[in-house]
Amino acid sequence: MKVIVIGAGVAGLTCARLLEKSGAEVVVYEKSDGIGGRVRSDHTKGFTLDRGFQVFFTAYPAAQRQLDYAALELRTFSPGAVIAQGDRRHILADPARDPDSLLPSLLTGIVTPEDKWRTWQLSGEVGAKPTSALLDGPDETTERFLKRRGFSPLFVENFIRPFFGGVFLDRSLQTSARVFQFCWKMLAEGDVALPARGMGAIAAQLAAGLDIRLESPVESLTALDADVIVVATPAPEAARLTGIATPEGSVGTTTLYFAGKVPLWQGKKILLNANCDAFVNQAVLLTNTAPEYAPSGECLLAASIIGVPSTDEDRLFAAALTDLRRMFTGDTAAQSALATYRPLAAYRIPYAQFAQPKNFWQTLPKNSTALPKTYFAGEFTAASSTNGAIRSGEKAASAILAGASESHGEY
Ligand SMILES: Cc1cc2nc3c(=O)[nH]c(=O)nc-3n(C[C@H](O)[C@H](O)[C@H](O)COP(=O)(O)OP(=O)(O)OC[C@H]3O[C@@H](n4cnc5c(N)ncnc54)[C@H](O)[C@@H]3O)c2cc1C
Repeated sequence: MKVIVIGAGVAGLTCARLLEKSGAEVVVYEKSDGIGGRVRSDHTKGFTLDRGFQVFFTAYPAAQRQLDYAALELRTFSPGAVIAQGDRRHILADPARDPDSLLPSLLTGIVTPEDKWRTWQLSGEVGAKPTSALLDGPDETTERFLKRRGFSPLFVENFIRPFFGGVFLDRSLQTSARVFQFCWKMLAEGDVALPARGMGAIAAQLAAGLDIRLESPVESLTALDADVIVVATPAPEAARLTGIATPEGSVGTTTLYFAGKVPLWQGKKILLNANCDAFVNQAVLLTNTAPEYAPSGECLLAASIIGVPSTDEDRLFAAALTDLRRMFTGDTAAQSALATYRPLAAYRIPYAQFAQPKNFWQTLPKNSTALPKTYFAGEFTAASSTNGAIRSGEKAASAILAGASESHGEY
């Protein structure tokens, strides 16, 4: 069987790999000059810069099936977060896995006693359910879900909004509550990690041994000579190539990388900005978790902004530094460390994830299409995440190999 896969993102690579393992003759056509799509890292002057700050959840079920974790040399963050609010910083230990750790936060008034109980309840509930069951029942927004479950506005504003705002790239929490519950389960059951050589190492592992033609954009499906065509591009391009409706809407982000000489803080927690007028949503001192991300003697900081401001780069960096200084109000050591930080690179990514509002599941296309010999891979057939992309590659491969009937109710 001769297969052409269009797109060397994680979805296309997973599908190509599984089909090749089953004996198919597979060629992957990739528009850009490298593999990985949205999971790609640049290596420059000893720094590893992921194309937009992102993380890997080790509990991702499809990733566990398809990736060799040991070879990725995963470096794990500490659970929880440091929360910058006003002129203070608070440590929130591990709400998903260890609700008891909320106790010190109760004393500083950033969560309420009820939040501890509700967090414990939520982790127990999502932990007891298989991931497929998280898709049952009616959907709602994350904001509505948290309110209905009785979480306090304090907990939502101080932790959930910046933390999940950074995961969903949507601080308004209008993302589907099912996505939220899936992410909570992943946080409760595994680590948040980075491969030592950058997120791009995930794609590199999936791509090993495949025939991939870079800088080979496919303009139309008609001239392709293959028994099977797999469209594994982002949703808008998949719609253009096939004429089939795919999910509309997207969320974007901007990552500003800074290099400095002195760590701004110790430890492997991310720093969340809980201020309601936050410009930087979260700051991550990558080298505290993955020292390999910078040359020796350098620290690498990623400051993430939700959305893609049209402001020029100098102003973006200046605005981010102003907000970072505010996040360290009163900490003279951090303020003088920050003075050693210089702008390194900016990544603006308007299409980071497809939009996942409530009930978006119902709009996802299947992997087999109405077009002859044409299949979809791509996150837009599963969920917008590394796991969703891998899962979509698995589903596409099994639909091709077995002509199997498909369902959307799985991760
Ligand atoms: C900044 C950022 C942060 C993120 N954070 C996280 C996170 O923390 N956790 C998480 O789980 N997920 C995260 N995601 C989402 C995750 O990366 C994506 O859901 C996933 O990588 C999508 O994979 P894909 O293979 O479906 O699509 P893509 O990665 O977009 O791959 C599609 C490929 O198709 C190629 N292509 C397009 N058109 C053509 C054509 N005509 N011919 C040939 N090739 C074509 C593209 O160049 C691309 O390489 C993040 C994404 C970004 C960008």
